[in-house]
Amino acid sequence: MPKYILGFDVGGTKISVVLGDETGKILGSQRKPTVRHLGRKRLAEDLLSMGHSMLDKFGLKKPDAIGVIFAGLVDSDRGMVLTSPNILGLKNFPISKVLEDEFGAKVYLENDATAATIAERIFGSGKNMDNFVYLTLSTGIGGGAFIDGKLYRGAHGMAGEMGHMVVMSNGPVCGCGRRGCLEAVASGRGIARRVAENVTAVKESELYSKIRPSDIDAKKVFEFKKKGDMFSQLIIEETIYYLAVGIVNIIDIFDPEAVIIGGGIASAGDDLFKPLRVAVQEEFKSMQRPVKILKGIKNGHDLSTIALPIYRESHELKAALN
Ligand SMILES: [Zn+2]
Repeated sequence: MPKYILGFDVGGTKISVVLGDETGKILGSQRKPTVRHLGRKRLAEDLLSMGHSMLDKFGLKKPDAIGVIFAGLVDSDRGMVLTSPNILGLKNFPISKVLEDEFGAKVYLENDATAATIAERIFGSGKNMDNFVYLTLSTGIGGGAFIDGKLYRGAHGMAGEMGHMVVMSNGPVCGCGRRGCLEAVASGRGIARRVAENVTAVKESELYSKIRPSDIDAKKVFEFKKKGDMFSQLIIEETIYYLAVGIVNIIDIFDPEAVIIGGGIASAGDDLFKPLRVAVQEEFKSMQRPVKILKGIKNGHDLSTIALPIYRESHELKAALN
């Protein structure tokens, strides 16, 4: 097992580096904003300098393994970023090779939702579960699944795009081009858009009329609901209903022990989970099953970068022994 793991998280708004160990302890972390328009050269420079400063801080010459999670489409076998919605010029960027050449350790790359699913299996609620589904509720919605103890990748490595399951026929147009995807309705972006589109309700609301439309986000909607805002309550009730529809669709397909939910919206805690559990039970209708709806691990992103090499190396070890 790798002892010291250097973990990189390349997101749309920030990049971060952590140093962690095989028990999931984060020893150090550093973040900086993503420079979106300067492309691969600047990204590589930032990653290398942040990695070196983290190793220097702990007096390490090199890490035992490196985990990289990337918000975009990746080819994990070839260690390549295929496309990035956030950073310019990253088409076919061999990110693993750049890091491997510099730090002299094996690099494991995954997209962020897949890595978060692995993190739940290694450190989180999915630790002792062979069958679970992970769903991240954030600006967008993504996910992953463990089936019979193995991460399910699909024929093209694209399994787990649960945000693009249609839950509202003829609903709002999604970024993927379809209508009424779970992501278009119940993601952070979807929730904010549903609020902003209801111009009359926003105007009449004491709370919303005081903030700029661009400042409306899921966090505010939960906050305003707590303050007794009826419109926010309605938006959240609707969101929870569509989430329950999506989750029961997922449960019907996978029959998991649990659906684990992470991402920014999950930090609403009981305000989300309590009514969601009730809504899922109701949505089962006559097909009740004892599936748990659980909250994902806290610092999921940091732990994802660490969990990735641990999972892949134990997997490779198992394959070599068989
Ligand atoms: Zn979609």
